[in-house]
Amino acid sequence: MSEITFHDLPLAEPLHRALGEHDYQTPSPIQAQAIPVILEGRDLLGSAQTGTGKTAAFALPILHRIHTQPRELESKEVRALVLVPTRELAVQVDRSFEKYGAYIDFRALVVYGGVGFETQVKTLKKGVDVLVATPGRLLDLHGQGCVDLSNVKVLVLDEADRMLDMGFLPDMRRIISLLPKERQTLFLSATLGHSVQSLAKSILNDPVTVSVNPPSSTAEKIEQQVLFVRSNDKAELLAHLLKQMEEEDEAQLMLVFSRTKHGAERLVKKLHKAGIKADAIHGDRTQGAREKALDKFRAGEIKVLVATDVAARGIDVKGITHVVNYDFPNQPESYVHRIGRTARAGEEGEAITFCSDEDMNVLWDVEKMIRQPINIIKDHPYHCTDLEDLHLGRREALKKIVKQERPRRRNRGGGPVRVRKAF
Ligand code: AMP
Repeated sequence: MSEITFHDLPLAEPLHRALGEHDYQTPSPIQAQAIPVILEGRDLLGSAQTGTGKTAAFALPILHRIHTQPRELESKEVRALVLVPTRELAVQVDRSFEKYGAYIDFRALVVYGGVGFETQVKTLKKGVDVLVATPGRLLDLHGQGCVDLSNVKVLVLDEADRMLDMGFLPDMRRIISLLPKERQTLFLSATLGHSVQSLAKSILNDPVTVSVNPPSSTAEKIEQQVLFVRSNDKAELLAHLLKQMEEEDEAQLMLVFSRTKHGAERLVKKLHKAGIKADAIHGDRTQGAREKALDKFRAGEIKVLVATDVAARGIDVKGITHVVNYDFPNQPESYVHRIGRTARAGEEGEAITFCSDEDMNVLWDVEKMIRQPINIIKDHPYHCTDLEDLHLGRREALKKIVKQERPRRRNRGGGPVRVRKAF
């Protein structure tokens, strides 16, 4: 978090009130950097992923503008358009607007595919201040004459890299062609690879670039590995790895992440059955029990500590050699935070991630965020080839997209063209 407070930012009072209610005190780095720039009316190229506070970074100045420049909406008019890749993100962004704009008089609407048109069309008819939309559904609505985009003042492309990965480039281009040239454009992306930058260049006007470094730089000393495994085999796989390390006399102090408290308890029981000393820390255990478990772990009396994310927050144990994502983290950012528990203070560490069927999308997001493929370990009895093939297929597809887009790049500056790898 940055030094300044929200009160240093010239946002309208009702926004400060809403932020206060949610106990937001300090703007996150992306907010501190982007909000003043957006308030000035400049275009923005923001490199930030979910978890950095990027939604408020664009929602607050948009709401400020709506509040300070009130006017009647024309029928079907849209003042601010936020394009997002998925319905989940659409809903999340819409909720954020409602949350920060609780004391502001404005109309927002979220539209995405797979649900009926009726309510969406009805609200659009009255005009909206903020429209959060996935590209396909927006074009459908436009095709039916339900929305007029010719008066959009602010365009936000949120998770632009993901939209490109999902093949939305033609839809995005079509939508942009329907907008007025004179507008403010805010372009947010977790990664700034070649295709993302070339899209940004083509639609932004003298943008200010704001980049929030992903915490991934901490991960350089960490050897990262992913193991594809069926959910039911995960406990056996962990026991197998532990036994193997013991046989090879490999030093180990292992922090294992479990998604749930029950899962953590179950895993500890299974490890005990396999003859492995382990303990768990999670929200259902008393403070005393947690501290005892931590002390034993610090002293090396138990080599394996199973923790939920919440319980692991703030624990600082030196010498953790392995972090195991027994359950895949829900958010790519938690991956980076979790694995940062090892390789502290210049030491080296290993991060081992179990990836099952339901984790494939997050694994993909993680690789994009850390901008490198994670080493796949298949030398174990529970390796799941289907999942590995699926993942390798995705990596190949991305490489092809990048290759296809490359020849179109013009070297305007005349200097050498730097070719970035997909990862
Ligand atoms: P985002 O990156 O926009 O998805 O936001 C991540 C989470 O951080 C959301 O749950 C926000 O409600 C929360 N958040 C965003 N900005 C702040 C802030 N300045 N202070 C506290 N929480 C925040």
